[in-house]
Amino acid sequence: MVKLNTHYTKLAGNYLFPEISKRARTRTSTSSLIDLGIGDVTRPLPPAIVQALSQASLEMGNASTFKGYGPSAGYDFLRDAIAKHDYENLIHPEEIFVSDGAKCDIANIQEIFCSSNRVAVPDPTYPVYLDTTVMAGRTRLQLKNGRYGGVVYLACTEENNFCPQPPRESCDLVYLCSPNNPTGSAMDRELLKRWVEYAKQTKAVLLFDGAYEAYIRSPGIPKSIYEIEGAKEVAIEVRSYSKTAGFTGLRLSYTVIPKSLKIFDCGREHSLHALWQRRHDTKFGGAPYPIQKAAEAIYSSPGKEQIKAMIDGYSQNAKFLREGLNQLGLTVYGGLDAPYIWCKAPSALSSWEFFDLLLNKAGIVSVPGSGFGLLGEGFVRFSAFADQSKLTEALTRLRAHL
Ligand code: PLP
Repeated sequence: MVKLNTHYTKLAGNYLFPEISKRARTRTSTSSLIDLGIGDVTRPLPPAIVQALSQASLEMGNASTFKGYGPSAGYDFLRDAIAKHDYENLIHPEEIFVSDGAKCDIANIQEIFCSSNRVAVPDPTYPVYLDTTVMAGRTRLQLKNGRYGGVVYLACTEENNFCPQPPRESCDLVYLCSPNNPTGSAMDRELLKRWVEYAKQTKAVLLFDGAYEAYIRSPGIPKSIYEIEGAKEVAIEVRSYSKTAGFTGLRLSYTVIPKSLKIFDCGREHSLHALWQRRHDTKFGGAPYPIQKAAEAIYSSPGKEQIKAMIDGYSQNAKFLREGLNQLGLTVYGGLDAPYIWCKAPSALSSWEFFDLLLNKAGIVSVPGSGFGLLGEGFVRFSAFADQSKLTEALTRLRAHL
């Protein structure tokens, strides 16, 4: 009889977004919906990217330029461009693995680690870290409060500016996300140094998710974990073109695994880089050639300029929304180094109560913070992926109804 991976039965229902849609459909407000919940880009791809994508697609229809299977870790033209432009050659192109999404890499990397490894995740944070840890069998059952036994939760609260601190206990695989989804907070150099030190001392691996690095505006905030000395011995870095170049529909990302990063088996050292390459060769056929050509165009002069204008636009939105909410007397965080604003519910309302108030009084959709973890309770997330006119309208409605 075929048997189930019973770890899947431990998963909490994926009710957050279906519940948001259901409540939006049955709202009592008659005004049109303004969706500030969406974590997806809203602007079209810039012309330099579209041109490269079209050109590469045409090449696929020509016998002399057609491409079949490509290298599983990505074409050299893109790996070289990433090493040069994103890392100033601090990372070798061979240490870069191009993939079809950061989400997949974040999940897939788990299979290389021993099932008894202890995983640490920030709370609140991007739900994929925890769900994939559950699927991989690295947790016990879900507790009444929604948390899972066996997981180390790294509290991200107002007291620590929503930045996870190294815990007293040891853990083996630590997910860090900076700038963070959903809180919009970014970790400073001092804190990242402490994390690298922690990983060295406990022989842990840090998985640093830099999906929103392009939004960092505050001076001195590291865009990459590799800006920290010694990080190449302890950290994997995941980056995505989704939010940094509008690729959510194209799908492209990359993961950096330095050759100096080791994992252990009864005291013996193994190269994580070699094992990930082995996995990639076996399980991944490489990202599509036209999409990789589109990504290469991001690093051209017009591409850089057009991408910058796009990210600047979203960043201005975030700042505008943050300031507007602030002026309404709400307590807000994030929005300065990230496209997300983390807003505290007034009058001690719960996340869902505040969500309902925003929806039913003003027709505004947000995301309840409790959907990102126990410590997200009492907050909602607003996204700056919207037109400025919608944000202006949202603030006008909030002024009238709050
Ligand atoms: N990491 C974080 C923190 C995210 O918020 C997201 C998407 O929302 C991803 C990774 C996924 O990126 P991708 O679209 O490349 O799978």
